[in-house]
Amino acid sequence: MYEAIIIGGGPAGLQAALTLGRMHRRTLLLDSGEYRNATVDHAHNLLGNDGTAPADLRGRGRDELSAYPTVEIRDAAVSVVAAETDGVRVEVAGETLRAEYVVLATGLADELPPIPGLKENWGNRVANCPFCHGHEFAGRPVAVLNASPHAAMLRGMLLPVASEVIVLDPARVVRAESLDDGLRIVLDDESTIDAAGAFVAPVSRQRAPFAAQLGLEVQESGAVRIDPFGRTSVERVFAAGDMAHPDHFPGPMATLAAAIAAGQLAAVAIVQGLSAPR
Ligand SMILES: Cc1cc2nc3c(=O)[nH]c(=O)nc-3n(C[C@H](O)[C@H](O)[C@H](O)COP(=O)(O)OP(=O)(O)OC[C@H]3O[C@@H](n4cnc5c(N)ncnc54)[C@H](O)[C@@H]3O)c2cc1C
Repeated sequence: MYEAIIIGGGPAGLQAALTLGRMHRRTLLLDSGEYRNATVDHAHNLLGNDGTAPADLRGRGRDELSAYPTVEIRDAAVSVVAAETDGVRVEVAGETLRAEYVVLATGLADELPPIPGLKENWGNRVANCPFCHGHEFAGRPVAVLNASPHAAMLRGMLLPVASEVIVLDPARVVRAESLDDGLRIVLDDESTIDAAGAFVAPVSRQRAPFAAQLGLEVQESGAVRIDPFGRTSVERVFAAGDMAHPDHFPGPMATLAAAIAAGQLAAVAIVQGLSAPR
């Protein structure tokens, strides 16, 4: 029996494992290899790592975990998580595992508007977060597609960065084409707009079915409802990262720094739970 099982090897899960490992807690991290920022060449806005490739960041996280012998990592997809009287049951690759606590850090999956060319450029020339990918377009035109009702806010955020912010009616956009150093947007009358990049608002959903399986309370945003230490509505089940947020946030903060912080706080609360006199 593990003291904690962490499902997810993104920044939230890796940080939770680091914190538990440093406290010598028997921890298993399970990772199916489906990362929200999988297509991103360079991640930004993370102190000490501005511009680091997400895969390098995860690789360094795993290397750091190898220094902590109570932490085990398995590359495997979990199919079931269930709450039991004194802990949790996790089913993975035909095996049933048990732990005193589980941290769900399974993230979100994004569905892009069905405009050809967006998927191919997702995370580099096409982005959703100006804090992550905005400065890279500095001094050049930037397009905003399908971001309603946030288009006006996005425009305001980008004005000091871009030379011009072009808000487009997504119904008019036929396709996006990669340029050597930017993106060409083709409209329904075959006219084109060349921009450094474009912003779109994807539909983001829970990547894993565990919130539904466990009957966890969810926020209006669709994310799992947690307290500031990652506790969900079900005892011994914690959640961290993009998939969850507390009441005082309007939605998932959805940045690497916020995911790392949430993973750490959940692990701290679990260590406290494990350390309480029994
Ligand atoms: C295009 C794009 C660009 C971004 N750029 C930036 C940026 O520059 N800077 C920034 O701060 N943020 C950026 N973000 C946001 C950032 O990627 C997320 O906030 C962060 O990855 C969230 O971390 P997480 O650990 O919650 O989830 P993820 O990183 O998505 O990790 C989820 C983990 O859960 C695992 N998992 C899921 N289901 C299962 C299962 N059934 N069994 C086992 N494991 C499972 C996955 O394999 C993965 O390991 C970007 C996001 C997008 C979409």
